[in-house]
Formats: sequence, C-alpha cells, structure tokens
Amino acid sequence: MPELPEVETVRRQLQAALPGRTIVDVHFTEARPHLLRGISEPEFIETVHGSGIVAIRRSGKWLIVDLDINRSLVAHLRMTGRWFLRHSDAPEDAYLRSTIALDNGDELRWCDVRKFGTWDLVANASEVTGDGGPEPLSDAFTARRLVAEAAGRRAPIKAFLLDQRRIAGLGNIYVDESLWRSGIHPLRPAGTITLNEAELLRNAIVEVLNEALDSGGSSMRDYLDSNGRRGGFQERWRVYKREGSSCVRCETIIEKVKVGGRGSRYCPNCQQLNVYSASDESSVARAGAVLPAGAT
Ligand SMILES: [Zn+2]
Repeated sequence: MPELPEVETVRRQLQAALPGRTIVDVHFTEARPHLLRGISEPEFIETVHGSGIVAIRRSGKWLIVDLDINRSLVAHLRMTGRWFLRHSDAPEDAYLRSTIALDNGDELRWCDVRKFGTWDLVANASEVTGDGGPEPLSDAFTARRLVAEAAGRRAPIKAFLLDQRRIAGLGNIYVDESLWRSGIHPLRPAGTITLNEAELLRNAIVEVLNEALDSGGSSMRDYLDSNGRRGGFQERWRVYKREGSSCVRCETIIEKVKVGGRGSRYCPNCQQLNVYSASDESSVARAGAVLPAGAT
C-alpha cells in the first residue's frame, strides 16, 4: 500500500502539472463498484464539468484535488490505486477505472487492479480525512509530542506508529525501517519509550521518509508514480521484506514477528526488547512531567 513518500511523490508531480487546468470531461469505465462514495456518477460528472483545478494537497495518505467550485476531490489509493497523467493519444492503461480529461489534451487516469481506492467529492476535505496525527515532515512532529501521545499506552510501538490518529502517513514499510534505524523493538509498549528514544525515533522517521522521497518512493509489484515509473527506495530497505537475510549493521539474521496482525521485520540484536529498565520507565515519567499541561 502506498505510504507518505509514494503519495507525496504523486502529489508533487500532479501539483507541477494540474493547477490552472480545467476539467472538460469525465468518464467512468464499467468495472468501478466502489470508487465514488456518497455521490452518483452522473451527479459527479455534472458537478466537476468545467471546473478549474486549484491545487493538489496531501493529508496523511490522502490526495486532495481542490477545485474552484468550493469542492475537493479526496482520493485514497488504498492497495493498488494509481493516478497517471497521460496525453489523450497515449494507449489506454490497464485496469483503467476513470478518466478526467483536461483542457490541454492531457488526461488524469485512475487505474486500480484491486479496486479498493475511493473518491469523495466534498466541500471540506477534513470531512473525509478526519483529524489525523501530525504530518511527520512538519514542525508539529516532535519527540515531546511523540512521548506525550504514547504516555500510558501499552500497545506495541509498531501498532502505535501505524495508527493514523497518532502520526499521519506511515505504513508497514517506513515504520519497520524507522524502528530498525532507531534500535527500538516493534513490540515495545509505546508508553515505555523514553524522550531520548523518541528523539532517535523521530529523527529516523524523518530521515527514512526524506530518503524515500528522494528515491521517488518504494515499489513492490504495484506502486507507480503519475508518469508510470517505479520508485527506487525498495533497494534501500534494511529490514522490510528482508527476514532470513543478515542485518547490514551487525549480520544477525533479520526476523519477522506479527504485531497487531501486521508482519514486522526487525533485527533481534539491534532492536532488543529487554534493554529498557525501570530507570527508563521513570525517565518516561519525568519526560511527561515537564510537558506543559494539555500538550499534544
Ligand atoms: Zn542488527
């Protein structure tokens, strides 16, 4: 499933090409049972026809196309959704579900093998995206906020980081990679993470996401950017999908454990579960004590 770097890569490409363009036609293919939510196809087509594209934004893993009619198209790629920007002369793409034709002869083509992707057309994007946690590449994402959010939580740190209400945009790949870089075991109860560890973890998350963005995201079988190109960060995975291979840092064999139903890869040497102690627990309490009341 595309995560922040993949969705952001598509967003940047579309933002470079689409603002100022006008939607001149919309077409849906037959195989589209769940794409549109809360609006019929004829109503959608009538509403957006002739509207101008103002900006392409992202919130967590959501892509938001702001239109000049006080409406936003809020899209989620889910498992295999892709948005290709093609000229109308280009051969039809496989698994095409919808085509948005633009006034310059280009087409925004939505393709989706598994058909889990969704579109909502709403006045306010947050009606769909909800109030997610902080964007990890924004100033709002700090070690203190991480510790404050995690305080008292017994859920494994892996599950905590996947929860979009705690931090926006992370999925299985980038959480596993960030935990390995910061030396934290995926099963560590979130509330036991110290301020020092939260600092390491925050820095690792920011570093991994920026490196992935520089590589155009990660591609397994499915993800392609809006030009139909694969990302390159899968070449730099250190633990994700590397169970049974040796750790590049210490040569211990990477293992896989299920955390909240998700396969989680980690190095049992670099990421030990029993290294945090009672003194760490009290430093968590101290870190919590210095936070201003109501800090989130
Ligand atoms: Zn290791």
